[in-house]
Amino acid sequence: MVKRESGCPLCGARLDAAALLDACSGLLDAGLGVLAARCPACQGYLEVRPVEGRLDLGYLGGAGSAGRFEVALSLLAEGLAVERHDDTLRVALAGRHWAFSE
Ligand SMILES: [Zn+2]
Repeated sequence: MVKRESGCPLCGARLDAAALLDACSGLLDAGLGVLAARCPACQGYLEVRPVEGRLDLGYLGGAGSAGRFEVALSLLAEGLAVERHDDTLRVALAGRHWAFSE
């Protein structure tokens, strides 16, 4: 069951989806579409997976190439769109665009 909260799992700060995308530094796992990010409030390390309409926050679990993404909480982001082109993940939200590669 995914918790519907919108706070940083580390410091509890309320997170804005666009601000969190700004804080993403790169593509951590191209296969799973997981990004590395720093919380804008506490600078804590987060792993973020953008999907249609929301950002999943959690962590990569499992070993090696069979890894999977464990979702700790979902941040709703209405209109968020994700496209993958080879090893680049393109995210669009509210007229803004981000592109992440490994
Ligand atoms: Zn934080």
